[in-house]
Amino acid sequence: MIVELVSTGTELLLGQITNTNAPFLAARLNELGFSVLYQTTVGDNRERMKRVLQTALERADIVITSGGLGPTQGDITKEVTAAVLSRPMCFHADCAERIKRYFADRRLCMADNNLRQAMMPAGAKIVENNCGTAPGVIVEDNTAGKIIINLPGPPHELAAMFEASIIPYLKEHYGLQGAIVSRVLRTYGLGESALEEKIKDFILSQSNPTLALLVRNGVINIRITASAVNETAALQLITGLEDQIRPLISEYIFGIDDDTLEQAVGRLLLAKDLKIALAESCTGGLVTSRLTDVPGSSRYVTGSVVCYSNEIKVAQVGVPAAVLAAEGAVSQKTAASMAQGIKARYSPDIGLGITGIAGPGGATAGKPVGLVYIAIDGPAGTAGYQHYFNGSRTDVKHRTALAALNHLRR
Ligand code: ATP
Ligand code: MG
Repeated sequence: MIVELVSTGTELLLGQITNTNAPFLAARLNELGFSVLYQTTVGDNRERMKRVLQTALERADIVITSGGLGPTQGDITKEVTAAVLSRPMCFHADCAERIKRYFADRRLCMADNNLRQAMMPAGAKIVENNCGTAPGVIVEDNTAGKIIINLPGPPHELAAMFEASIIPYLKEHYGLQGAIVSRVLRTYGLGESALEEKIKDFILSQSNPTLALLVRNGVINIRITASAVNETAALQLITGLEDQIRPLISEYIFGIDDDTLEQAVGRLLLAKDLKIALAESCTGGLVTSRLTDVPGSSRYVTGSVVCYSNEIKVAQVGVPAAVLAAEGAVSQKTAASMAQGIKARYSPDIGLGITGIAGPGGATAGKPVGLVYIAIDGPAGTAGYQHYFNGSRTDVKHRTALAALNHLRR
């Protein structure tokens, strides 16, 4: 079955946003055995979108659009889909009720044009959207045996609807046999090429399961995908390959599937019954924020001080003024004093100190932008780490937070 992905939205053409929906859909559809042979991007323009959909229908069996299902006048994808398939648009009472309820439940005032989202191509199957207001649609053109599927633009809505509704629909409609199952090994600490080198024999010889490396926000995901007669058999294939790969890269794997570094740290602290307090300078509280993203983190995070100025480092965290004077705020000793000081004040077990130069200014001789010191004062004493990170100010903050979480995990 040939698939064409049509990404809609003028902001994509203007380069204002990066298209993440098409790569996501392409990867998942290929895993399911569909051939994604065309990907098109078109702006929010009726005539051009119509031509794109007509062309897509000539060369593909399944056309999946993303974007343009919202309530505004620029959101035209369903209307154009209906026009291309010669269907009228009809008011869908159930959808209207659902949209009204979505607003009422959130005590939000609903604008009249939100009900535009309840206008559907006649005969369309409705795809529920549990993360937003715009439902998707599946429109089957029975004479030609072709299908257009409209999904909303926001990536988390599109992904959730694709997994929950579109995959089951495609499996049923095309009578796909067996199961395709994926497991993701989440890694941190080794670059993409170094990681690839370690498992290259498996990458080169892959067929079923397949292996894919995907870099996301500083974390490298290794996706293992297997197809088999049923889920149990597919999982067995995955586990077989995972057991061979793991020993080669075990120290870098912090979790599977949706696991995060902060969850891994949380599990470790809970298992060891340890509590932590943090003193963050250049990260401005980012590590604390990520640690406390995990439900139940109050069981191991006692508190945190964002000590940006030297005064606060001394007064709130107990860094000796002499250390700051002798070594400077960005130094191994200052990080160590921050970790020890915050532990002495706020935590029975672990103190974390972070100080660095996020840039773009602030570099001095021997201390470039991106220089970061992280110290952890724990039951076995104080450990210190020096890093040089690249990138913008926010990149440096983000990379520092990941590194700090990774040190805590060990
Ligand atoms: P909404 O109801 O939010 O308007 P929509 O279905 O009308 O949803 P769009 O208006 O096209 O979708 O896009 C909404 C937002 O979703 C965009 O501003 C952008 O942030 C994101 N988005 C849209 N298309 C893509 C894409 N291909 N890749 C990544 N993000 C996208
Ligand atoms: Mg929109």
